[in-house]
Amino acid sequence: MASDTPPIHLRADVVVAGIRAIFESDRTRPLAWRIAQLQALDRLLVDGAEAIHGALLADLGKCAIESRLTETAFLRAEIAHTLKHLRRWLRPKRIAIPLSLQPAHGRLVPEPLGVALVIAPWNYPVQLPLAPLIGALAAGNAVVLKPSEVSPNVSATLARLIPRYLDNEAVIVVEGGIAETTALLREQFDHIFYTGNSAVARVVMTAAAQHLTPVTLELGGKSPLWIDESVDMEAAARRIAWAKFLNAGQTCVAPDYVLATPAVAEKLIPCLHDAIREMYGDDPRNNPAYARIINTRHVERLLALIDPMRCVSGGEHDAGERYIAPTVLYPARADDASMQDEIFGPVLPIVPVADADAAIAFIRARSKPLALYAFTSDHALRRRFVGETSSGALVFDFAVAHLTAPDMPFGGVGTSGMGAYHGEASFRIFSHFKPVMGKPLWPDTLRLIFPPYGKAVERVIDWLL
Ligand code: NAD
Repeated sequence: MASDTPPIHLRADVVVAGIRAIFESDRTRPLAWRIAQLQALDRLLVDGAEAIHGALLADLGKCAIESRLTETAFLRAEIAHTLKHLRRWLRPKRIAIPLSLQPAHGRLVPEPLGVALVIAPWNYPVQLPLAPLIGALAAGNAVVLKPSEVSPNVSATLARLIPRYLDNEAVIVVEGGIAETTALLREQFDHIFYTGNSAVARVVMTAAAQHLTPVTLELGGKSPLWIDESVDMEAAARRIAWAKFLNAGQTCVAPDYVLATPAVAEKLIPCLHDAIREMYGDDPRNNPAYARIINTRHVERLLALIDPMRCVSGGEHDAGERYIAPTVLYPARADDASMQDEIFGPVLPIVPVADADAAIAFIRARSKPLALYAFTSDHALRRRFVGETSSGALVFDFAVAHLTAPDMPFGGVGTSGMGAYHGEASFRIFSHFKPVMGKPLWPDTLRLIFPPYGKAVERVIDWLL
């Protein structure tokens, strides 16, 4: 007989009730549990490396070395950093008490938020679910993890490995797409950590609002790059090409477009061309170091952005193989298709501008980016970028790799996101810092401000406040 009850993997209420009971049992609070989970996650990354790298190759055509560099090695460094500092982060911090409340003592005590939901995208499908997981476990939370269905091989691999290594009642992987995520979002969580596009971020935030659940939103957008004549053009081009064409441009902090004067653009284009050849050879399609586009829908979306009249490097493609060559467009204009939304693929438009003033004005006229890059050794101009622009991060003379510094909180501002993580910032996201205060009953100084009000209380206010 057919039943109206959805299959167990869709019974988000059952999953969340179960994991909440585990959190309420206090199992996830002890330091020993947290350390054991982080060590187990590290073992998973070591023992499971072959399976994980195989899944990344199947989903994104990503070679094992790039997979290590950008996914597993990154995560292992985050785990090592967390294990090294966790005791210190957990130590209650004494806080100063004003004279008006003396004698008294106060401290901030971190406590886990509870049950966290982590929703991840497909572009770094191992790093992006597991990096927030590290912070959530370090802070003593139970976690429901929703990998992206768009990278199905990685999603299945995580769903298979995680229960074997981690506490399988306190960390639960729910695979699936919109239906499963929608079902999860109806439930009450204590924090939702979402990485992905801004349209779905609105869905997540609306659902979170029903339960007043706090959210972290790691989003994207167009990250601009300014370059001027003060830098070594060949060295800069190598760094730009690496940052842009890593993971075939499917990186949230990839330089989305370049702003440069026409004179600088003319020098940069041949250097970019050489840098691409140096890294990926004459035929990137047959070079294992060069990744593939995640699916044909995205290939079609990207091909529509390539104006053959402006293609000064690359442009070759093979939709069947999900291949698009590293491509540079020049001169790009603000109303080009490539300049409307985040590109999220291996297409780099170079927009000619009159000077740095025009570049800053161009950047300020648009949404605040996740990252802003400036290749310049002009220190006065660097100060202007710091003072006159706003972005998730501002990086001089390199790109993308800034997110590997664990003490640099990583996140957006405005439409590029809210909240930042990595290192201690991840631990803080999933913790509540509870003020704990105490005041001895004697001497009973508080009585000085109790009614009946009169001149005496006024004198106390004048003296203390
Ligand atoms: P995606 O399609 O995998 O979606 C992300 C997650 O949202 C998935 O788990 C998916 O199942 C879920 N989802 C999709 N539609 C949903 C819906 N209607 N309701 C509920 N959940 C839904 O990934 P994407 O959004 O294409 O990811 C690319 C975007 O993410 C880019 O904009 C990129 O810049 C951004 N990004 C940001 C960061 C960062 O750290 N700031 C990192 C990577 C990617």
